[in-house]
Amino acid sequence: MSMFTRWRDKPSPADTPKTTAAPAPIAAHPGQREEQIQELGSQMLSLARGKGSLLSSKFWSDKLMDWAMKDHEFKVQLFRFIDAYPTLTTPEQVHDHLVDYLSQPGVKLPPGLGMGLKGGGLAKGLMTSTISGQIKSMASKFIAGTDAHSAIPGLEKLWKNGVAFSVDLLGEACVSDAEADMYQGKYLDLVGNLPGKVAAWSPNERLERDHLGVVPRVNVSVKISALSARFNEIDPEGAIADAMGRLRPILELARDKGVFINFDMESHHHKDLTIELFKRCCEAIEFHAGLAMQGYLRSGDADARDLCAWAKRVGRRVTVRLVKGAYWDYETIHAEQEGWPCPVWSNKRETDACFERMSEIFLDATPRSTGEGGVTLALGSHNVRSIAAAVDGLDRRGIPRNAIELQMLHGMGDELKSAAAKMDLRVREYIPVGEMIPGMAYLVRRLLENTSNESWLRAGFLDNASAADLLKSPHSQLDAESERSEGSDISPDRLDAAPERHQLSPAVEGVGNGRPFYTEPMRDFADAKQREAFGRAVERATVPRIENNKTPDDAARAVGIAHEFFPKWRDTDPRERAAVLTKAASIMRDRRDELSGVIIKENGKTWREGDADVCEAIDFCEYYARTAVGLFEPERLGRFVGELDQRWHQPRGVAAVISPWNFPLAICMGMTSAALVTGNTVIVKPAEQTAGIASIMAEILWEAGAPREALHFLPAPGETTGAALVRDERIALIAFTGSKAVGLDIIQAAGLPYDSQTHVKKVVCEMGGKNAVIVDASADLDEAVLGVRASAFNFQGQKCSACSRVIVVDSCYDLFLERLVESTRSLVIGDQTKPGTDVGPVIDTESANKINHYIELGKKECSVALAMSSDDLTSQSGHPFVGPHIFADVDPKHPIATDEIFGPVLAVIRAGDFDEALRIANDSPYKLTGGVFSRKPSNLDRARREFRVGNLYLNRSITGALVGRQPFGGFGMSGVGSKAGGSDYLLQFVEPRACAENTMRRGFAPEL
Ligand SMILES: Cc1cc2nc3c(=O)[nH]c(=O)nc-3n(C[C@H](O)[C@H](O)[C@H](O)COP(=O)(O)OP(=O)(O)OC[C@H]3O[C@@H](n4cnc5c(N)ncnc54)[C@H](O)[C@@H]3O)c2cc1C
Repeated sequence: MSMFTRWRDKPSPADTPKTTAAPAPIAAHPGQREEQIQELGSQMLSLARGKGSLLSSKFWSDKLMDWAMKDHEFKVQLFRFIDAYPTLTTPEQVHDHLVDYLSQPGVKLPPGLGMGLKGGGLAKGLMTSTISGQIKSMASKFIAGTDAHSAIPGLEKLWKNGVAFSVDLLGEACVSDAEADMYQGKYLDLVGNLPGKVAAWSPNERLERDHLGVVPRVNVSVKISALSARFNEIDPEGAIADAMGRLRPILELARDKGVFINFDMESHHHKDLTIELFKRCCEAIEFHAGLAMQGYLRSGDADARDLCAWAKRVGRRVTVRLVKGAYWDYETIHAEQEGWPCPVWSNKRETDACFERMSEIFLDATPRSTGEGGVTLALGSHNVRSIAAAVDGLDRRGIPRNAIELQMLHGMGDELKSAAAKMDLRVREYIPVGEMIPGMAYLVRRLLENTSNESWLRAGFLDNASAADLLKSPHSQLDAESERSEGSDISPDRLDAAPERHQLSPAVEGVGNGRPFYTEPMRDFADAKQREAFGRAVERATVPRIENNKTPDDAARAVGIAHEFFPKWRDTDPRERAAVLTKAASIMRDRRDELSGVIIKENGKTWREGDADVCEAIDFCEYYARTAVGLFEPERLGRFVGELDQRWHQPRGVAAVISPWNFPLAICMGMTSAALVTGNTVIVKPAEQTAGIASIMAEILWEAGAPREALHFLPAPGETTGAALVRDERIALIAFTGSKAVGLDIIQAAGLPYDSQTHVKKVVCEMGGKNAVIVDASADLDEAVLGVRASAFNFQGQKCSACSRVIVVDSCYDLFLERLVESTRSLVIGDQTKPGTDVGPVIDTESANKINHYIELGKKECSVALAMSSDDLTSQSGHPFVGPHIFADVDPKHPIATDEIFGPVLAVIRAGDFDEALRIANDSPYKLTGGVFSRKPSNLDRARREFRVGNLYLNRSITGALVGRQPFGGFGMSGVGSKAGGSDYLLQFVEPRACAENTMRRGFAPEL
């Protein structure tokens, strides 16, 4: 009997007994099983390839896609252009951007396109409209309409052709409560009205019944992140409460209307949160429930088992749409950037194998009778091998075929859909509807997937691979090495080489186990273990009570001891000094969460900010330990025979470190460790507000081996003792980070020598900023809004790098401002020790008064776009609150736009075009950080050349510089230091020496 007959001979759904299962199957041995899978797969393949047609051939034959497949560089730039396309409002903008993208280095143009790019007038217009037409046509292949209403005729046609649907409202993560409310309204409309619209369609047994009963005709896919601006893994309870608040009415309506709701699965950091939310919703509301789960996750098997156990335990029947996963590139790159273990398999075969194992787990949990809890399986795949393996699993268990369904994406695998329908399988198409802008991320994902070398569809129907290759078992001899070269766009080879590519300073013998430096990974708060441990540590943390009572006399005594000890520390082996830093880093690593807890409580940082502070302190120690050693080893200059020329360095003497409260561990440790490791003795005078964490830092360094005579901790008032310290004639070096006023005062004081002074004092001085971000016409506003919001309001705007001016090009000004204001309004202000808090208190009353002064000025003289009140908030730790404020249409010369405020106050400035935006941004004496959100390559290049700031950030937030990766520091009125965390930083703490020896004796010399 052929497979085809067997498939068709299965009992129809209507004949299937509703409460009894088929007899238990006899387990097939692996060889036999594989034979059956091959047979099923060949059957489906030949049905799909039936008349020799190419699957979705139209998509691949489109000229642009055709060329993209041939030329990787062209593909990258084309997809980047497509991503920006919907924001471009005029033909000129379209042309300009296209030319920009396609003239990037390495891009080869398809024949004929070059003419259009170079030509003006008619050729230019023609090319713009051709490209626009192609993009719209590509989008229309994957996106079924601009809204659900416009998609209904298409849905009906699909139904008549024997294919069911699930409607998805396009929209990626939303940035505000207002946007989440808007999406909720759309889902309510869909769930409320679609059943009425489809009620008159003719019944279809195959599509509307499974082995146990009715399958709803209306099926809606929901992206949870669209329903909450607070879907943040750091605070699962807050996130679930917020999302459930909007989901509940949708699910109750779905229950009442008999609509199936599927929760889509998004990126990995939302995975546990989404599963937990799903379970809670299912336990609270009786709706037809489905959840997408991903086989590309290394946690796939465990996730599947956990969900099945839950469904059985609570007696709930749910559907799992098993997919491989749509964010493989993102997950891979993101994990690599963060230094986290990669959550997805690095090899396609492993994804396929995991998909098959998960199918088996779900099939084992298939409910056999109504009322029984368990999981029914929906296969979200276009891969015939993956589908055949699951169908075989079903057969082996004697479960009727209608117990599962196949789901495929709109615009993909159409021949497979009809093949499956011919086989009496229930097929559902996933139908995205929406506007172009929110649709672009979806479109680009589909384009990437379809053009990937790893795509089964591409192999099957463009590259015409053999059936044997297409149906090959992913389990058989997973030969990692040979699979590696199979050519995914991000090759596993590249991933394996990541540590080498990312080393930021060389390994140094005898330092830090001889490993090169990488940045310390921050906590991954999506991991429950890390999150819970962090929470416990914050709760337990106590801030040491330190009196800032040291006097100028104490300072003088400390300087005396440090001065006397200096020669000993100076002559200590540099490797020994470096070992103190790596030991200190290791102690901090062991006490990481506790240190974060102290910072959070002492200076008002939120969880992520506290964690980042500690990571940076560790990084400084590890980085400077490695970069210091070489400074003291004589370096030979040139190779002249008869002449030995060498250069090396020596420490300067006693260093005064005057540190600020805003990075109370990181900056204090950065300056202290730099001074110590280069052989200077050090007096640390921390900010009065954060002497607690600074005292712990000193203890850690002593514990790590810093001699007490070399490191002195001097908690004291700045105006008296601090001022006396920097004026002490024995001080050789002052490392200061803080306000412009104090910084300039120190520079002045350091320049006035005493008669008996034997050296000129060196000042390493980092001061403030009035940092600007430019939002260009083609900016991705989702990213710009979140990037500006984070830069302006994280840690209450109290970072030297914080954004306090945002300069927006006129064409996107109104939309950007509206979204920024709503997004900021959604921030939670409150107790910073709670994980869900976005904005904590400011450092002290003096600071609050200064910020409030500017707010009052803004209210009088500028247009208030947002004034968030903090009147009802009182801080546990006694710090005052100031709510975020945004002022719109601010004159670039107004004090709100020129003065350093150091608080959550943002000036929004309108600019006619990018030129003007750049002029305004540069028009400040401060030159610390700056940012640009733009998708125009030539504007980004221009910003690189002309936006004169110490640290420029493109298409990302402007805070959070990482040691070694983004060496930090400004110029102008922002500082006279070089880059903290950069390779030249330590040069400021030493003096260079050189020696030339004549090695010639009586006319002969050693050769080298
Ligand atoms: C109805 C439906 C709904 C969907 N809903 C979701 C959803 O909610 N969430 C979601 O994330 N996705 C979803 N998807 C998208 C789905 O994940 C992709 O369509 C899927 O990746 C394509 O898989 P395939 O089995 O059709 O193709 P195949 O070509 O067999 O598999 C391609 C997939 O393999 C994986 N892969 C590629 N390269 C590698 C590599 N080097 N190492 C390891 N793995 C690799 C990737 O996940 C890639 O997408 C849905 C798909 C369908 C059909």
